[in-house]
Amino acid sequence: MLDTITIRTQRTTASRLQQLDPDRLEFGKVFSDHMFVVDYQDGEWQEPQIVPYGDMAVSPANSALHYGQAIFEGMKAYKNPQGDIALFRPYDNLQRLNLSAERMCMPAIPEELFMQGLSQLIRLDANWVPDSPGSALYIRPFMFATDGFIGVRPSDNYRFMIFTCPVGLYYNKPLRVRFEEKFVRSAEGGAGYAKAAGNYGAAMWPTKLAQQEGYHQLLWTDSSAHQFIEESGTMNVMFVIDGRVVTPALSTSILDGITRKSVLQVAHDLGMPVEERKVSATEIMAAQANGTLQEAFGVGTAATIAPIAVIGFQGQDYTLPAPSMTSFSQKASAILSAIRTGEAPDTHNWMVQV
Ligand code: PMP
Repeated sequence: MLDTITIRTQRTTASRLQQLDPDRLEFGKVFSDHMFVVDYQDGEWQEPQIVPYGDMAVSPANSALHYGQAIFEGMKAYKNPQGDIALFRPYDNLQRLNLSAERMCMPAIPEELFMQGLSQLIRLDANWVPDSPGSALYIRPFMFATDGFIGVRPSDNYRFMIFTCPVGLYYNKPLRVRFEEKFVRSAEGGAGYAKAAGNYGAAMWPTKLAQQEGYHQLLWTDSSAHQFIEESGTMNVMFVIDGRVVTPALSTSILDGITRKSVLQVAHDLGMPVEERKVSATEIMAAQANGTLQEAFGVGTAATIAPIAVIGFQGQDYTLPAPSMTSFSQKASAILSAIRTGEAPDTHNWMVQV
């Protein structure tokens, strides 16, 4: 990508790259040398900067801390065998970030600021992008309120930042999930379609209770009668029933996942029927009982595809068939990974070089 914005860059004098063990990358604990920072003040985005990654001072009265006026994104960059670095569908992340911003009364991020910030930051920290199979650079863009004011109203000032973390191969341990029949992640008309910080904080307790029962995550259900499936943990969820890919239709309580739409496109490319509609817990349990439920899996940026091995429903655990090489989920995962590393043609123009 060409530089069309000048970003004042203060390079670190103490790179931590030498301490990086590429074979032992724990998700989200190691941060690359630099971060991108830009403030919104007086109704305008100010001069962007790239500075060494580190702690910073904020007002203790800011409404991100008190009222959750904070949003984020999660995306990845991949290195191909030639050493080129490309982002996966970054414009989709920007679009979703700006949808979240609107929902939380925050200013939109201009496309050029977002793309230039990403590209110049990643090029500066190019040596942090791992290249072993399955690895990637996880990218965390986020925005939060910065006014020193405790009143409940939208802040006038904000900070938008990006930092990155090298991540290794995600071990797709087959998941144990259970239907949630008491709590909800979001309700129709709520903020579930936004990547708003508070959605995640509020999901922690129900998730913790399920984990104490031996499940990895929850199958969230709708807020009216816990009848229809929404998402799986912090992933969208899909099923293969009798050769058809079935997934809950989007609503204001479901996040429009970029992996979700990519996997649905792959299903379409493979000629599989795709159904985006309401999916009830009883439909899934009936398909499990009569043998037509062939696959269940979560889809999201962190794992790409996470097969579900066990579903808990009304106090009982039901085991699903183990995925094989011919499973749709495994094929879709291999196709997406080949597109990301440049080993397969990028027919949908999803990759954007930094
Ligand atoms: N649902 C929720 C609630 C999520 O947090 C995520 C992760 N962003 C997803 C679904 C999957 O979205 P994506 O494929 O864009 O990562």
